[in-house]
Amino acid sequence: MASTAAVTQGVIPVELLKGQKALVTGANSGIGKATAIGLGRAGADVVVNYVSGRDAAEEVVKEITSFGVRAAAYEADVSQEDQVTAVMDRMVQEFGTIDILVANAGMQRDAPFTEMALEQWQKVLDVNLTGQFLCAREATKEFRRRGVVPAVSSSAGKIICMSSVHQLIPWSGHVNYASSKGGVQMMMATLAQELAPHKIRVNAVAPGAIRTPINRGAWETPEAREELLRLIPYNRIGDPQDIAHAVVALASDLMDYVVGTTLYVDGGMTLFPGFATGG
Ligand code: NAD
Repeated sequence: MASTAAVTQGVIPVELLKGQKALVTGANSGIGKATAIGLGRAGADVVVNYVSGRDAAEEVVKEITSFGVRAAAYEADVSQEDQVTAVMDRMVQEFGTIDILVANAGMQRDAPFTEMALEQWQKVLDVNLTGQFLCAREATKEFRRRGVVPAVSSSAGKIICMSSVHQLIPWSGHVNYASSKGGVQMMMATLAQELAPHKIRVNAVAPGAIRTPINRGAWETPEAREELLRLIPYNRIGDPQDIAHAVVALASDLMDYVVGTTLYVDGGMTLFPGFATGG
């Protein structure tokens, strides 16, 4: 048996997901990018979905293939049924199957409630919730067709929904986003209940404040950073790798008995830090 140092790069065991095929949506930026790279580091072949920014997606592919696994960039808008179906068909054709779906793609279109246009509401629901529904449905069809392959994994498939602490914490000025993540929570739990008998594990990761382009305004200036840190008991802003590590673990057989759970990766943001001194 190799030493621990030989089987890990960083903290990710390099053979943990060997032989598995993963699809990560919105994987050319932020959390999706770190997660796709983390899955590749753990030995999975990875499809890097993107909706725009082909060069950035190809960079991610290049980094993943440097680990000696396969990767490819597929363009698709996750809110469009025909494009999601096409991605899954292509993945099965080119990679043979899918074992892990990370439904990560997401966006914000913020506005005070009375100024929020229907288009802003609809777009965020379409991408953040309907997009996850479509990807999960198509992945599940392939999981069910193929079933469990014991040499690869104890389960027939894993779905990891990228949620947010805002599936729990209300968020003024972001009613579309918070509603979409609340929806993700119930979609995840319902799918977990429905699919567990088919040996498909559905779980969610709920990030707190992670340094990515989606929330640049919240960490870019020292003032914003200070205000944000008041909400985080662990006193640091998260990095995309923090989320990647959680996803890799949840996708692996180490977590084979974890079904229908949301793993909060938030430095304690959901611990009501205001009550540490108030209340
Ligand atoms: P990001 O903006 O860096 O990444 C979002 C990705 O989704 C991008 O690659 C984007 O192109 C892609 N995307 C958007 N619309 C798409 C579509 N229609 N089809 C396919 N891809 C699409 O932001 P991020 O912080 O990395 O966000 C990733 C996920 O994490 C999102 O679901 C977000 O809600 C969630 N999240 C982020 C934080 C945070 O603090 N950064 C906190 C909680 C939850």
